[in-house]
Order: sequence, then structure tokens, then C-alpha cells
Amino acid sequence: AVRVRFAPSPTGFLHLGGLRTALYNYIFAKKHQGSFILRLEDTDQTRLVPGAGENIEDMLEWAGIPPDESPRRGGPAGPYQQSQRLELYAQATEALLKTGAAYPCFCSPQRLELLKKEALRNRQTPRYDNRCRNLSQEQVAQKLAKDPKPAIRFRLEEAAPGFQDLVYGWTRHEVASVEGDPVILKSDGFPTYHLACVVDDHHMGISHVLRGSEWLISTSKHLLLYQALGWQPPHFAHLPLLLNRDGSKLSKRQGDIFMEHFAAAGFLPDALLDIITNCGSGFAENQMGRTLPELITQFDLTRVTCHSALLDLEKLPEFNRLHLQRLVSSETQRRQLVRKLQALVEEALGNQLQGRDVLDPAYMERVLLLRQGHICHLQDLVSPMYSYLWTRPALDRAQLSAISEKADVIAKRTLGLLERSGTSLTREMLSGELKKLSEGLEGTKHSNVMKLLRVALSGQLQGPPVAEMMVSLGPKEVRERIQKVLS
Ligand code: GLU
Repeated sequence: AVRVRFAPSPTGFLHLGGLRTALYNYIFAKKHQGSFILRLEDTDQTRLVPGAGENIEDMLEWAGIPPDESPRRGGPAGPYQQSQRLELYAQATEALLKTGAAYPCFCSPQRLELLKKEALRNRQTPRYDNRCRNLSQEQVAQKLAKDPKPAIRFRLEEAAPGFQDLVYGWTRHEVASVEGDPVILKSDGFPTYHLACVVDDHHMGISHVLRGSEWLISTSKHLLLYQALGWQPPHFAHLPLLLNRDGSKLSKRQGDIFMEHFAAAGFLPDALLDIITNCGSGFAENQMGRTLPELITQFDLTRVTCHSALLDLEKLPEFNRLHLQRLVSSETQRRQLVRKLQALVEEALGNQLQGRDVLDPAYMERVLLLRQGHICHLQDLVSPMYSYLWTRPALDRAQLSAISEKADVIAKRTLGLLERSGTSLTREMLSGELKKLSEGLEGTKHSNVMKLLRVALSGQLQGPPVAEMMVSLGPKEVRERIQKVLS
């Protein structure tokens, strides 16, 4: 069975890079009727950010890609937080110590620091010199008496195994000569990433590891650990980096790549999933507007390439527009949008709403249907440009007569037009009638008539076509607003 995991460290809130790794894991799992697991890698206790674990799980749920097993949901392979699995790492370390694949290291922090400094001075990568590798049993016993809790290092074999990465192909990284033997268990009993990751992937029955390409070079090391523990490794697929459009690193410092930001700004989760998969690979073709079920059926891991994914966030509103339009066209989704819109309007304009019941669901639905495809966000509808939908504009007589000295005539004829049109207004019918109205006015341009009506109806110089405004407001409200021009 396919079992995949998203294994973030709760050292920060979920951002787009993390979402992308989670998403590819999720769609791969669902495509193969497998399980998607969330594991929190919280072994570096000094870097924990309070609330980060909760945030990551909240945001996965918000995005519509909830894990099947997780700290919150539990599951058969739990616990799902590494800090609660110390026993398992201790066991594995014990096994490695027994076979001599691991050894205690008594080097003092000062000595290690010195090694590092020296390497940096010589412009070399810091490397542990494996000093404690060859201590005799007596030496170990002696040192243990003084230092009963040494760190444990893993003896890296010279020949690192290669592997067939499902994205990068045949891969092998020299590990032994580069950094020296790595610490796998610290003196405080906490594992380091490499050991914890291997132990958990094994015990959680992970079949495929899909993770960021920054971990590609660690995989040979992980394979040595699998070998030493006598375990079968999973398949690996490393995902290329997600970068800004100009190829620069997605910056967390800008603060605007965190999921919370997108949620608060009213972006739809589907728009985010869509833009992320569009800039990445894994699909026969790029196509805007795909939904999660479509992503699942169309995803093909063999189509993931090793090119970086360049994300153009400026296109996100456009993605959102498409997904919003899709929601409006579904009756059930539309009803939910109406409820959201009600909340938005009440929040933004609550104390200004006048007599007319603008919160009426039928009215809101009409507005949504008329404006779909034109707005990127639901919130756009409570921006100043759309305030006319919810409140009456303050009429500025001087502004009206500046637009046309025939303001009165235009208003009267518009009222007549409304009289004749009855209660069911349509855009087509109204634009035809308004054209005729302008033609009947000697020396007045149609654009001026429209401008006058627009200002009378909305107090704004810009907005949707006047005929559409009239349809959305409805004949009664339009009549009352136009009447004001006369009185
Ligand atoms: N904890 C690692 C991270 O934060 C996980 C790497 C992996 O998936 O193995 O990216």
C-alpha cells in the first residue's frame, strides 16, 4: 500500500514551499488509494516555534488536503511527533552500537568548535575527523565513567550506495569523506534528523518519500542507515525547489508566503493548489482552473521534472477569479458564498445598512451571478467600488449637473423606461432602451447619459455597466435612487 508522509519541523508556520511538498504527497497518496501522514519533526527543541505544529495541521485542513494520520487525528503508526518517539530512536541506536555501526563520541563541544574554525579558516567544509571511531573498549569504559551520556555517531561506510530517484534518476552522493561520521543521537537522548527520519519512515511503513530536493544529498546517508539496521528502504522522489518567478528563493521574511496570509486575504485554497501545480510539473499539460479531484486523477509522478518550479504570485488573483467563478456556478457552493458574503457585508457595513434588505440571499445571489468572472475575491464586493450594492450613495447635485444640464430630463425618461419595463429587468433589454433614451436627447452623448446614471445610482465614476447595475439593484431601488435626482 502507498503510504507517504509530510514531515515538517514545527520551526515555523506553514508556507507555500511546505504546502507544495504536502500537496504532492497528498495527491500521490490519493491517486493510489494510499495514506497521507503528517509527522512533526520536533527533535531540535531549541528551534521550536509555539503553535507551529497546530498551524501546520490547521492550514492543511484549510487547504483541503488533511492528513489521514497526524498528531491531531492519531492513527495506527503514532505517535506522530518525534519528541514522543524517543524510545524507538534509542532502540535503533542500541542495535547500531551492538554491531559496531555506531560508536560513542566523547569529543567536547570546544574541540568540535575548534575543528570547525580550522576548517573554515582553510576554506574547507567542516568535517568531524572521526577521532572517537577507534577507541578501544577500555578507553570507552574509562570515558563513560566520566561522561555517562555521550553523543552517538554513525560509522559511515566508504562506499555510499546509489539509488534510483523517481525524479532525479540514478543518484549517489559521496558522504563519508565530506562531513565525517554524523551524530545520530545527542547526549540529551534526542536523535538528529537523519536517524529519526529513517527510523520513523521504517516504523510508519512509508512506501515513498516525496520531499524537497534539498534532501537529495542526505539520501545516501539514509540508505547507509537502512543497510546497517537491516531494513528495506522506501522509494525516493525528490521535488525540485519552488522559487520566485525571477529564480530567487521564496522568502519567508516577506511574510506573504505563509498560508495564514493567503487565508486572511480571502484566497481560495483551490486557487493556491492550482497555481502551485501549474508552476511545478507532474502533469501532461499546464492548465488553469483544475480542482483537487482533477489534480489527483491527472497527476503522474513520472512527469515531475528536476527543473525548479517558478512561482509567479502576481497571477494568483487570476487563479482565484477562475475558482471563484466555478464556485458561483455551482448551486450549493453559491449558497455558501452567499453566507460568506452576508458576513462580509455585515462586518464591513453593518451600521450603514439602510432599510432595504441587502442581506436577502436572493439579492446576494443575483449580485454573485452578475459579477462572477469580474471579481477576483469575494471581498472585492465590499470594496468602495461596490458600496452602491449595499448603501445608497450621497447624492451630489452639483456633480450631476456638471455632467449634464439635462439631468432632470434624463432622470424622468429613465423613470418612464422603468415604468414600461415592469419588474423583470435584463441587461440586454436595458442597454437597448438606454441607447434609445440617449438617441432621443438631441446633443447629448450616450456616454454622458451613462455617466450621469452611473453617478446617480452609485456615486461612482467607475463600475459595472449601468444596465447591469440596474439589474442587480432591481427596479424599485433604481426608481428610488433616480427619483432623488429630481427632488
Ligand atoms: N524535517 C524535514 C524538513 O523540515 C523533513 C525532511 C524529509 O522529508 O525527510 O524539511
